[in-house]
Amino acid sequence: MAEPTILIIGAGTFGTSTAYHLSQRYKDPSRVTTIDRAPSPPEPSAAIDTNRIIRTDYANPLYCDLACEAIHDWFWKLELGEYFHKVGWLMLDEVGSDRADKIRTTLESRGSTQTQDVDLDGLVKRWECLEGTQTKGFEKAYFNPEAGWCEAAAATKSIMDAAVKRGVQRVTASVKELLLDESGKGVRGIRTDDGKEFVADKVILAAGAWTSSLLSPIEDQLNIGEADRIERQVRATGAVSAYYKMSDAEINRIETSRMPVSVYGQVGEVVPPSHKLPYLRYCNGQGTFTNTVSTKSGAKISVPPSDQSQYAVPEGLKQETEEAITSKLMPSFTKAKRPDYWRICWDAVTPTDDWLMCKHPHPSLSNLFLAVGGSFHSYKFLPIAGKFMSNILEDKSNGVEKDKTWRWKEDAVWKNHQGNSALSRELRDLDSRTMGVSARTHSKL
Ligand SMILES: Cc1cc2nc3c(=O)[nH]c(=O)nc-3n(C[C@H](O)[C@H](O)[C@H](O)COP(=O)(O)OP(=O)(O)OC[C@H]3O[C@@H](n4cnc5c(N)ncnc54)[C@H](O)[C@@H]3O)c2cc1C
Repeated sequence: MAEPTILIIGAGTFGTSTAYHLSQRYKDPSRVTTIDRAPSPPEPSAAIDTNRIIRTDYANPLYCDLACEAIHDWFWKLELGEYFHKVGWLMLDEVGSDRADKIRTTLESRGSTQTQDVDLDGLVKRWECLEGTQTKGFEKAYFNPEAGWCEAAAATKSIMDAAVKRGVQRVTASVKELLLDESGKGVRGIRTDDGKEFVADKVILAAGAWTSSLLSPIEDQLNIGEADRIERQVRATGAVSAYYKMSDAEINRIETSRMPVSVYGQVGEVVPPSHKLPYLRYCNGQGTFTNTVSTKSGAKISVPPSDQSQYAVPEGLKQETEEAITSKLMPSFTKAKRPDYWRICWDAVTPTDDWLMCKHPHPSLSNLFLAVGGSFHSYKFLPIAGKFMSNILEDKSNGVEKDKTWRWKEDAVWKNHQGNSALSRELRDLDSRTMGVSARTHSKL
């Protein structure tokens, strides 16, 4: 029997990984098509950036195990090795926080850990480039030499190129809508902005932060109530990064002092530059936000703004980021400078930060699958996430724990870190200096 045709919408982290794994499983990989509105590596995606952090440091044992599996590929996979920079991960932990302890306990419970205590007063002695870093409000720190950062855009392209080499079809086009099957049992395929139709036996929605915008019209057509809509499962959420271009001399200083990826507690982090990618990238992990719009049917969905470049960042958000992190962490590289550019990057966030990787539960969408919910921490799983999606497509279990964790959750509840059900801030409110406090924190990249 012929293998089922598969259409993957989105060639970011989940879409690329799935295409890669299917290309290895399929006898005829040309039956798999990946469509994205931009060529590889796709510009609007969260899977492209000057860098992404690759680490095994998770308090949650499931993702710690997965990250340990993935990091092996970052070291050894032919398609990835050259893009991975093993500089280690330094984490400062706030007074009263048990996050670092929990992470180290989880690593230790796997049998061994390379993590080391770091004396906050001795930071600069060990890493000269951290000169001037403010440690007020922090009480401890640790270092894990196993982690690092990767050249995200190049790595994503490399994995997609490998899938295409094996026969997967990669189409560049913007998907306008999903098309319902006349039988009423599933989707037939998709229509693109330029009117072309693509049909497939199975369709995977791997559209990241754009998931709600693609699913909500079909939810309207099927009269799906609010409680059963995708918006209850994932929300498009933005985070801002500041990029400072470093001179050759500054990069030499950073490399000589062996700068690790440096995590500033819950506030955010800074990732080292290289001579190839000469930007010191700070991420404001605390000040996340949404962009909620009303659809024609009156449904409220979260979606990255279509009329605003990712590189146009409100002044209030810039000031917040400079005050919270760039002026405090490695300030000798940012003092008296403005970033060379800024970017708002969007991800699909779930209430528990777990993936949503499953078949859609609605009987009229029985051949529609979801691979989404990166929740600001899932790029590192690029080498392995598609393996699990491929099992789901074949109706195979990924094991009780993963099936349960990645299922569609009828009981999904949105809570902020104070325990109130609340949305995060709205992008449109962030232009002034009088901005509210973030409802959710996402410093766990
Ligand atoms: C600021 C920031 C920093 C992060 N840092 C880290 C980190 O250091 N380490 C880490 O592990 N993770 C990190 N992450 C998380 C990680 O990047 C994401 O979790 C992951 O990329 C999500 O993958 P995805 O496939 O769901 O979405 P994406 O990678 O965004 O891919 C979605 C794709 O769908 C395409 N698409 C959407 N709609 C359409 C349409 N209508 N037609 C055609 N194509 C469409 C888009 O073009 C895009 O390419 C970070 C995320 C952000 C935002």
